[in-house]
Amino acid sequence: MRIPVELAFVLAAGAAAAAQAPQQDPAQAAADRMLAHVRVLSSDEFEGRAPGTAGELLTVNYLTREYSGLGLLPGNPDGTFVQDVPMVGIVSTPTASFAVGGATLAPAILNEYIAVSRRVVPSVDVRDSEIVFAGYGVVAPEYGWDDFKGADVRGKTVIMLINDPPVPDPKDPTKLDEAMFKGKAMTYYGRWTYKYEEASAKGAAACLIVHETGPAGYPWAVVAGSWGRENFSLKTPDGDAGRVAVEGWLTLAFARRMFSGAGFDFDALKAAAARRDFRPIDFKAKATFSVSNRIRSLASRNVVAKLEGSDPSRRGEYVIYSAHWDHLGRNPRLKGDQIFNGAADNALGCAGILEIARSFAGLAPAERPARSILFLSVTAEEQGLLGSEYYARNPLYPLTKTLADINIDGLQRAGPSRDVEVVGYGNSTLDDVAAGILRDAGRVLVPETDTEKGHFYRSDHFEFAKVGVPSFYTNSGLDIIGMPADYGRMRRDEYVANDYHKVSDEIKPWWDLRGAAQDADLLFRMGLRIAGADSWPQWKPGCEFKSRRDAMMAGAPH
Ligand SMILES: [Zn+2]
Repeated sequence: MRIPVELAFVLAAGAAAAAQAPQQDPAQAAADRMLAHVRVLSSDEFEGRAPGTAGELLTVNYLTREYSGLGLLPGNPDGTFVQDVPMVGIVSTPTASFAVGGATLAPAILNEYIAVSRRVVPSVDVRDSEIVFAGYGVVAPEYGWDDFKGADVRGKTVIMLINDPPVPDPKDPTKLDEAMFKGKAMTYYGRWTYKYEEASAKGAAACLIVHETGPAGYPWAVVAGSWGRENFSLKTPDGDAGRVAVEGWLTLAFARRMFSGAGFDFDALKAAAARRDFRPIDFKAKATFSVSNRIRSLASRNVVAKLEGSDPSRRGEYVIYSAHWDHLGRNPRLKGDQIFNGAADNALGCAGILEIARSFAGLAPAERPARSILFLSVTAEEQGLLGSEYYARNPLYPLTKTLADINIDGLQRAGPSRDVEVVGYGNSTLDDVAAGILRDAGRVLVPETDTEKGHFYRSDHFEFAKVGVPSFYTNSGLDIIGMPADYGRMRRDEYVANDYHKVSDEIKPWWDLRGAAQDADLLFRMGLRIAGADSWPQWKPGCEFKSRRDAMMAGAPH
């Protein structure tokens, strides 16, 4: 592009002034840019960025404008910056009563019980369904574990515990057995999505999970908040008729009452459920449910932008960055603040992917990577990773040509840190790429500390992993430079307890986004390196996703 003479003069004068001004710390400059993005995306005007709302339109327009302003290309081969994601939205209104030990227990909706029906029908009714306690509801042949032991639960109401069976180490019963369900770490068997999938496969009528804050990884308010609102799923030909009719949760306190009403001690049954010889227990009790659904179809959108690779023979191969743009919207039933601003979750990740896109766009032509980079701002993560699931099922470029997904969900807010945590440490060679870059910067890659919370299954990289694409997802480090040793931990715990998925997830006065900038820079360098490397990232031997990738790549020359 030719620069007009007058403008060139202004630019030169600006450059001279900048040279005289004190050098601004590049991390601080990046932090300032990211904070500016977060201010916009988490503002009340964006109404919590729920899919299918005015907030979606504002968000999609904002991201599109930013990506195209950086000079990136439309990421969809149809020439647009969006990928349509057809979904259904369902607001469920549940009731339930349990005939237990001669009494009828009716849990308080939202305070003790919450349920939805993901079947795309106006209502479901389940009458006098026998109640069975199925322990952790896990069928895991590789661990020789089956909580059902052939019990027929068709048409029944199955009650399950959250997380994996906590199997004690035979050598030291104070610890968990590392050989069973990855010890303290959560496997997919521990996730609530798995529990309902298993109940559906077994033909149960209803599945209720007993909520416990520690094992679930979040307090009851998070469950009640997200399940009480509109819930979304991808549009399927059968309207999800194969899913269990009622999917719900009970509070621990209510479950204790129900268990003791049926003549059982909750803690004793919970302990029994951690044993391989556990068998489902018939409560000799009956459950009756109704769920009425308000249903609408909507087309939400992923935003997608592309930096074309410099090598014509390799620009058909992609490194993907993903970060969800959506959050929980607004809840008109709340008194006072009704808007879930989602500043940390995930306006900050949106700012991170934009900052990474900016770094790529700013590369000189000779520095551009050989392969292409795809920036994927996905929708409906909060509703079960739907935008990324849709992409993984309907990729715009073949998954066999997709080297890796690098996902961002939240970023460091406590300031620059020495460490970066990897969620799912040891899964893939992407760890080695990150560790090398960090080492050069005097930093360190460490395994995730809070592995029991199942973070690996809780953000968009998981949808890529599930189909076999090596994926990488970090959690912010806890070792904050220049702060007391417990500062990072304090900020993290404070967020989980007070702000995660609450209306108070807003910009805080103490935020220091230089750490976010530093971590975004790590992810930028990773993508740059991968997109120019001779070898492809690989799952490591023993990783549960490796066989998927191997099968995908067999017969797919690259
Ligand atoms: Zn998130």
